[in-house]
Amino acid sequence: MLQKILIANRGEIAVRIIRACAEMGVLAVAVHSEADRHALHVKKADEAHSLGEDPLAGYLNPHKLLNLALETGCDAIHPGYGFLSENAEFARICAARGIRFIGPAAEVIHRMGDKTEARAAMQAAGVPVVPGSEGNLAGLEEALALAEDIGYPVMLKATSGGGGRGIRRCDDADDLRRNYQRVVSEATKAFGSAEVFMEKCIVNPRHIEVQILADSHGNVIHLFERDCSIQRRNQKLIEIAPSPQLTEAQRDTVCALAVKAAKAVGYENAGTVEFLFDQDGNCYFMEMNTRVQVEHTITEAITGIDIVEEQIRIASGLPLRYRQEEIQRRGFAIQFRINAEDPRNDFLPSFGRITRYYAPGGPGVRTDTAIYTGYDIPPWYDSMIAKLIVWALSWEDAVSRGHRALEDMEISGIKTTKPYYQRILHTGEFRQARFDTGFVDAHPELLRYSEKRQKAHIAAALAAAIAAHAGL
Ligand code: ADP
Ligand code: ADP
Ligand code: MG
Repeated sequence: MLQKILIANRGEIAVRIIRACAEMGVLAVAVHSEADRHALHVKKADEAHSLGEDPLAGYLNPHKLLNLALETGCDAIHPGYGFLSENAEFARICAARGIRFIGPAAEVIHRMGDKTEARAAMQAAGVPVVPGSEGNLAGLEEALALAEDIGYPVMLKATSGGGGRGIRRCDDADDLRRNYQRVVSEATKAFGSAEVFMEKCIVNPRHIEVQILADSHGNVIHLFERDCSIQRRNQKLIEIAPSPQLTEAQRDTVCALAVKAAKAVGYENAGTVEFLFDQDGNCYFMEMNTRVQVEHTITEAITGIDIVEEQIRIASGLPLRYRQEEIQRRGFAIQFRINAEDPRNDFLPSFGRITRYYAPGGPGVRTDTAIYTGYDIPPWYDSMIAKLIVWALSWEDAVSRGHRALEDMEISGIKTTKPYYQRILHTGEFRQARFDTGFVDAHPELLRYSEKRQKAHIAAALAAAIAAHAGL
């Protein structure tokens, strides 16, 4: 078993990894920028080391992190998500210098990080992909010709993209002309690569992804799927496990496809295979994320499996503890990404001091966060400041519990997405589990609320929903 792990990350995911280490008797080393000197992951780790003044450079410096891991006697690095987690070069130099990278082989990260290579690998393995370009686009002319073939609307996507950025829908040739250069420069700026490709735009799809665990002995299992269709600008807001919108047959199909995909690329460690379901229920491979995901929590809630612990065990060379038929799921889990943003003001980031934080509790409630009362949210990092996860036996009860837990949670001093989520939970579509990636755009009225009136409104809506549910 690994003995000591350097966590090359910050925020809630660093705290999450430290917790897994503590339960396993593994030492955890935190790293931090000067801006993060008072961050929770620094307080909770067994050791903490500064990466210097720059708020970002240290977290993104492979050599600095690797040297620190070697100096502090670590045998592994956990990259979390974001930052260097999908950086194949980082995984490669870790391996070269005898430090275990907790994730798949550098070569697999590289291949899956390139969305056109990933598409090609899946096609070769017999996994259906969204119709689109074969490889990257050479230029606007090729894009225009291809779009005529595929049929509008189409999606232009950054080949090395992530985090919902570098993706644009084009409804006609003019739109494509307008957007082409934009996506290229977005891709260059955000991902350091000008490569873009094209996919057919699946109109109002559902985003369904499958959690995979694969060990170094050739065993691959899935932990069922998550429905991440509630998104804004291609970024996930609310995630659900399992999808309340799939039939058992669809579930079996997509989970089997994900296992096939992971096997085809020689995957090792935890990973996620993302699919789109069209309105007719056809499913298409979209991309693979070669790291722990933000929403791994809801899969933990329905299966009882600690995914971060499994990552560490797999990286230690241990075989999986479970066979596929031993994986059971129970109930439904929902995760709310609590972002420091003002939904009523176009989700403008809202940084500053948290004057009061009270974590919700009670049955079936989990919060993963690195905030505390008095914490100053620095402006340099992701705006997600907490994840609220609820679990219940039935979908209806999970939604009601979500309401209750959001109400229970208090974050003062900054604006957050919490009131917006409460309003989403009121809608009939959400309660009846009928939503796709068009949900947020289809409901601009949910963004118009008064925080004072919200409380009374919620109480009334909740009472009505409970009465309806009970058939009163
Ligand atoms: P998940 O895929 O786990 O649901 P996100 O897509 O929201 O989560 O990504 C998690 C974090 O990683 C976000 O902070 C996002 O900005 C960042 N991220 C994801 N992919 C990339 C990438 N290719 N380059 C830079 N940052 C990324
Ligand atoms: P990222 O790496 O940024 O997560 P993805 O390829 O996973 O990018 O796409 C992110 C989101 O964008 C999807 O969840 C979906 O909502 C939307 N999207 C991507 N490709 C398509 C497509 N071909 N048709 C419709 N929506 C798409
Ligand atoms: Mg994705």
